[in-house]
Amino acid sequence: MALDKKIALITGANRGIGFETAKQLGEQGITLVVGARSLATAEETANKLKAQGIDAYGIQLDVVSAQDRAAAAKYLEEKFGKLDILINNAGVGPSTGFTNVTSQVADEELLRIFTTNLFAVVALTRELLPLVKKSPAGRIVNLSSILGSLTLHADPNSPIANFKSFAYDGSKSALNAYTIHLAHELKDTAIKVNSAHPGWVKTEMGTDAAPMEIPDGAKTSVALALLGADGPSGRFIHLGEELPW
Ligand code: NAP
Repeated sequence: MALDKKIALITGANRGIGFETAKQLGEQGITLVVGARSLATAEETANKLKAQGIDAYGIQLDVVSAQDRAAAAKYLEEKFGKLDILINNAGVGPSTGFTNVTSQVADEELLRIFTTNLFAVVALTRELLPLVKKSPAGRIVNLSSILGSLTLHADPNSPIANFKSFAYDGSKSALNAYTIHLAHELKDTAIKVNSAHPGWVKTEMGTDAAPMEIPDGAKTSVALALLGADGPSGRFIHLGEELPW
């Protein structure tokens, strides 16, 4: 394995924005390690990419499993010795749609969503950061959402003002806080950490009502994964534009 070949890990890469991001990065000659909750699904995903001429490997990575996270780090260390791009893409949406009653949010819903969308991202990134530090130009992309924007939620006239689903929105606001904090910690390194809003995209989570097609929905993740040395860090970005926190 040539050390100059870029290695990317994408979580939740078996469908939706994650799969498309893997495909688009693979088309740029990047080696993909695709994570999915089961090994069979991950291998099936890698095979689909390989069939398109992409260098891809599947690993079992249920992001909420400490065992899977540790195994992923070991796999990357042994096979590649570094990680250039980490895309924290896996996420779960609200169980009762994107508008619900804030005061009635259940403990189970808060725990379920924060466990995947926040705690697993923090834990996986902690596990993999030593490998990202071995890359000459590490990039970490956290899949956030415009629904995590406190500024826009606080504005009664903003387009998202009436889409209030506290557990999901709060998980993405907290993820944004993590992006800012990690970028600060790494400010004197070559590593860049950013939050991506993909857009409202036609996936299982976004539903058919979404206006954006999946290939466009992957563009922000791909651009942030491929940022040059002069690119931003600690920012919240959608298609090259900064969003308010
Ligand atoms: P999706 O089609 O529902 O796909 C979600 C992916 O995450 C699936 O591959 C799913 O795997 C995986 N996942 C969930 N929990 C996991 C876990 N514990 N371990 C490993 N993988 C797990 O959603 P999407 O629209 O592509 O969303 C991707 C990211 O973009 C999410 O973080 C989402 O919050 C964010 N986002 C999406 C939109 C939108 O409009 N679609 C808008 C803003 C932000 P399984 O197949 O095993 O369930």
